[in-house]
Amino acid sequence: MTKSISANAFPAHEHDHTVCIADALDSAEQHCVAHQLRFTPLRRQVLEIVWSRHAPIGAYEILDELRNESRAAAPPTVYRALEFLVDHGFVHKIESLNAFVGCDRPDSEHVGQFLICGSCHQVGELDDPEIAKLIAKKAKTVGFDVSHQTIEVRGVCSNCAGENHA
Ligand SMILES: [Zn+2]
Ligand SMILES: [Zn+2]
Ligand SMILES: [Zn+2]
Repeated sequence: MTKSISANAFPAHEHDHTVCIADALDSAEQHCVAHQLRFTPLRRQVLEIVWSRHAPIGAYEILDELRNESRAAAPPTVYRALEFLVDHGFVHKIESLNAFVGCDRPDSEHVGQFLICGSCHQVGELDDPEIAKLIAKKAKTVGFDVSHQTIEVRGVCSNCAGENHA
């Protein structure tokens, strides 16, 4: 059972993003109920801010957004909320950008391979266990035991490539 790139990894730039946000919050809520996790208002709000776009958002920007909504929370509280969201797969951290992006499949345990568009900055996920397995296998041949993989690939998404050719 190999799951390759999800069809909506790079949604068209003019899609109805309110649907993405609603779906993500819904599935997070269901996941929390099913796993007896507390989906506190702050956790929900931080997740909503992360989902405000498909491009990664930094922690400082999240703090700013909360401030704009006059819901100023102490930074450590916000970091803990982010940590919760990352730990439970609602959000992925893009290490090379030190920023966060929402994941719409918290129910599937996965190591994402991230495709980062240099033009629109959206991040898509290749979620292919074969890639992770291959890396672990190749590493083993040099006696290396993999504990964590971070794969971040730069390029241009199909939406942006299309625009350039238009
Ligand atoms: Zn969207
Ligand atoms: Zn993911
Ligand atoms: Zn793009």
